[in-house]
Amino acid sequence: MTRPFPHLPSALAAWLLLACLLASPARAALDVADPFDGLNLGPQVQLLEDVDREFTIADLLSRDDDLPWRSSEQETLNFSFSDSAWWLQVELVNASEAPLRRLLELAMPLHDYLDAWVVDEGGEVVAEWQTGNRRAFDTRPVAHRTFVLPIVLPPGETRRVILRLDTHDGLFDATPLYLLSDASFLQKAQRELMAFSLYFGALLALMIFNLLLFLAIRERSLLHYVVYLGTFFVLMFAARGFAYQYWWPNWPTFNNQMLPLTIGLFAVTLASFSSSYLNLRRHAPRLSWGLHGVAGLCLASALPALQGHYAPVFRVMIPAAILLSLLMLSVAVWRSWLGDRLAQIFLVAWCVLLVGIALYFLRVAGVLPYNVFTEYAVQAGSGIEFLLLAFGLAYKINLLKNEKLAAERATHELQRSHNQRLEAEVDERTRELEAANQRLAAMARTDPLTGLLNRRQFHELVDAELLQRRRSGRALLFAVMDIDAFKAYNDTYGHQAGDEVLRRVSALLQQHFRRAGDRLFRLGGEEFGLLLEVDTLDQGRHVMEAFRQSLEDLAIPHVQAEGGVVTASFGLVCCNDFQRVPDAERLYREADEAMYQAKDRNRNRVMTRAILGET
Ligand code: GH3
Ligand code: MG
Ligand code: MG
Repeated sequence: MTRPFPHLPSALAAWLLLACLLASPARAALDVADPFDGLNLGPQVQLLEDVDREFTIADLLSRDDDLPWRSSEQETLNFSFSDSAWWLQVELVNASEAPLRRLLELAMPLHDYLDAWVVDEGGEVVAEWQTGNRRAFDTRPVAHRTFVLPIVLPPGETRRVILRLDTHDGLFDATPLYLLSDASFLQKAQRELMAFSLYFGALLALMIFNLLLFLAIRERSLLHYVVYLGTFFVLMFAARGFAYQYWWPNWPTFNNQMLPLTIGLFAVTLASFSSSYLNLRRHAPRLSWGLHGVAGLCLASALPALQGHYAPVFRVMIPAAILLSLLMLSVAVWRSWLGDRLAQIFLVAWCVLLVGIALYFLRVAGVLPYNVFTEYAVQAGSGIEFLLLAFGLAYKINLLKNEKLAAERATHELQRSHNQRLEAEVDERTRELEAANQRLAAMARTDPLTGLLNRRQFHELVDAELLQRRRSGRALLFAVMDIDAFKAYNDTYGHQAGDEVLRRVSALLQQHFRRAGDRLFRLGGEEFGLLLEVDTLDQGRHVMEAFRQSLEDLAIPHVQAEGGVVTASFGLVCCNDFQRVPDAERLYREADEAMYQAKDRNRNRVMTRAILGET
């Protein structure tokens, strides 16, 4: 300790020095006799910073009084980034009559180097240990995840305990320092083990359950969750000293390298899980890349650990991890704001974890008191976080199921309307086809020029009619009509004009013969057939004569014809003797012959023929 206020008068200075000495922690020995429940040594120890790391225990013991020891006054010892070695000392006195054993616990499993000595009243070293996380596990006097040193105190005697804390690479972790009785250590260890077993058991159960769930339903975010959880499990198991104790007690170097690598890996799995859970690749692909980028930086920053450099690792990793957390929080807030229920669950989960972490660090920084709650805040926070996320995943699966159902329904609906349209189209086409068929059939039955029934129809219909008449006995009247001197007409007026005459004559026929049973045929060229809906020859002659007259009255000019207009000759047959006239062909011949008689008699007239059997 340097002399304060050297300019003051020496008497006053002497008084002040005395006062300072009294106020300074001049190794007041702690009475640790029973009853003793254990105490936090943090504020009780004296500290000495060994900047050049040159002191030895021998130096300390010989130069005791001129070394700048100072009182720590820290609840939890915290040297953070420091290249110095730090010496700690505390004096313990056993004021009782019985020998005692006390356990000194450096409760930070990751501390690199811990050298410890117990010195008796005569200045002799009576016990010493060299251990730490960078030394093999069996250097520990008590096989425990933290460092536990048994200090034996004979009755009435004082022991000075000196610790030297050093790091591999200038990075100190905040470390609590406790002095405990055997019983209180046992209680504490049991309480911790129970808490950790519950915690790790729960993580393991969640992991296995979600893995099985993934195998069953193949939802990718479940797998991301399992990997995320698994990495966190390993990280916590290692950070709390269990991995070194149970998994690789003989590999101190690996044990130190894997921790930063696992943190980096955890950042990556966290980014992947969040991205998959929040469906960021769809909603915000750039943000997803950003998250993965920062996580990748975390992982990359862990690489120097493989070369044995740890301080630079955490100099980059801590800001990167903070950036990653902030990014994720903002994404979660943004998506929650938009009403994404999954993001809201995620946000709550993350806030719980962050509160846990904050509580833990506030305790480490000495702002909050040590208690079960602050000590296990990270475990509690992460446990609740994982449970909430598992709930979120269940919710997500439900959402996906509903989406799938909706999509199926939409597809079904689409299919249905498609089918309906198809059916309508088929109906339409069928109707068109039927119409076309009808047109085709009509075309097959009719003559294209005049629209009258054709010769084939004449045969079919008249044959059928004859059959029926044979049964009923009713007389049938049929006439053949042939336009007179039509060759001459064509020659005079041209073929097209001839066609026009054929059409006009047909139209006139259709005007005249419109009873239900009347049938008009174009039998060929300028020759027509008429099936008449009349019962007697007289009636037939009458209607034919009327028609002949109206054709003449139409007065289509025909210079070559007898009367100067287009006329026609008619042969009308009345038949009820269907033995003699069995078919259409025979009926035609009879009518044709009658028609030729009309031609012979100077044309433009109706000749009749009766073919009647006995009735
Ligand atoms: P007749 O008074 O003895 O019946 O004399 P015609 O000239 O009418 O008789 P013919 O059998 O010698 O001639 C029939 C003519 O009808 C021959 C042909 O030029 C004409 N013809 C036949 N079919 C058609 C047709 O579809 N269109 C036109 N323009 N003329 C036709
Ligand atoms: Mg003819
Ligand atoms: Mg003719």
